Amino acid sequence: MKILVVNAGSSSLKYQLFDMDTNEVLAKGNCERIGIDGFITHKCPGKEDFKTEANFPDHKAAIEYVLALLTDKERGVISSIEEISAVGHRVAHGGEKLRKSSILGEEEVAYLESIVGLNPLHGPPAISGFKACKEVMPNINHVGVFDTSYYSDMTEEAYIYPIPYEFYEEYKVRRYGFHGTSHRYVAGEAAKLLGKKDAKIITCHLGNGSSITATVNGKAVDTSMGFTPQDGVPMGTRSGAIDPTVVTYIQKVKGISAEEADVILNKNSGLLGVSGVSSDCRDICAEAEKGNFRAALALKILVHNIKKIIGSYIAEMNGVDAIVFTAGIGENDRQIREDVCKDMNWLGIEIDEAYNKTCPRGEIVDISAKTAKVKTFVIPTNEEYMIALDTQNLTK
Ligand code: AMP
Repeated sequence: MKILVVNAGSSSLKYQLFDMDTNEVLAKGNCERIGIDGFITHKCPGKEDFKTEANFPDHKAAIEYVLALLTDKERGVISSIEEISAVGHRVAHGGEKLRKSSILGEEEVAYLESIVGLNPLHGPPAISGFKACKEVMPNINHVGVFDTSYYSDMTEEAYIYPIPYEFYEEYKVRRYGFHGTSHRYVAGEAAKLLGKKDAKIITCHLGNGSSITATVNGKAVDTSMGFTPQDGVPMGTRSGAIDPTVVTYIQKVKGISAEEADVILNKNSGLLGVSGVSSDCRDICAEAEKGNFRAALALKILVHNIKKIIGSYIAEMNGVDAIVFTAGIGENDRQIREDVCKDMNWLGIEIDEAYNKTCPRGEIVDISAKTAKVKTFVIPTNEEYMIALDTQNLTK
């Protein structure tokens, strides 16, 4: 069974074609600058990478180009699009109703359209990406896999904010959580390693966007991102959690609008805001090593906040079996992993610092010290595979 996974952004369309019988990625790529000038990068194992300019006025043109490439005599990997059994779509927000991955029919799409206000950046491109794919591949099932759905079993005390209740009732203001597909995947892999289905696991997805999730028995019980992906740990350019009054205070003293304050918190804060160097952890680490005080401070703030959230989740779950690091920083930045896990031996968390410095990249590794009560794993995330798996399970 071959499944195409599509992740449509406002000016991009990422894709991966999976052969679910062999668990192989047959091809993957990205159409970028859709609606501007357009180019595509396309990779297939065993074939030369392909990158070219291409004119994509919209998502439909992009998916048509991708399908032509996948079935191309020379560069292709399938002989006809009929070989694709179903398409899995990454959708950031499923609101309160789409609580699990679902086949996207008229009702589901109408619901997604009704909640774009909750998700103005990612909602519209995901819907137009889906519509384009449905138009081009009308006879197969299209499945929506929602970043928020992993959090649909959280208790009310975890998702209701302590503000007037009518904001929840009337405007659906609540904690939704994001990155759920990544957390679900790595927590599932960790549970397999532990050989324990009811495990208590804290997954740290640390990338350009970062979130931390607590999972018990395969279900998320809490997560650091909230109403939007702005909450929680500091990120590349996002502040993460701050005293909410800081926002209204900045607006007053600077005389700026809510939209301008949003830009400050979303685009100019986090690692970039504190360091003044970059939003990219690698650049900040390099500057910190040269003695740049603000770059070093940005990293210390990041570590401090990750530790705080891990500690609070251990309290919430009454223990933890494993800590998992994933995504760009979690999988690659050995120093951040060491700093986060330092001085947590009282909680049973201890890593093998020497092995953490040398362990291979790109594969699952156990970096726990022999004496640790709690396992610490590095697990490369694979959201696309999770989407393909859900799509297969719903459509086979
Ligand atoms: P992601 O959003 O998952 O692609 O992660 C992007 C973040 O991962 C950026 O802050 C990068 O600096 C960081 N990152 C990627 N590779 C490395 C690396 N080798 N060492 C440290 N950080 C890395």
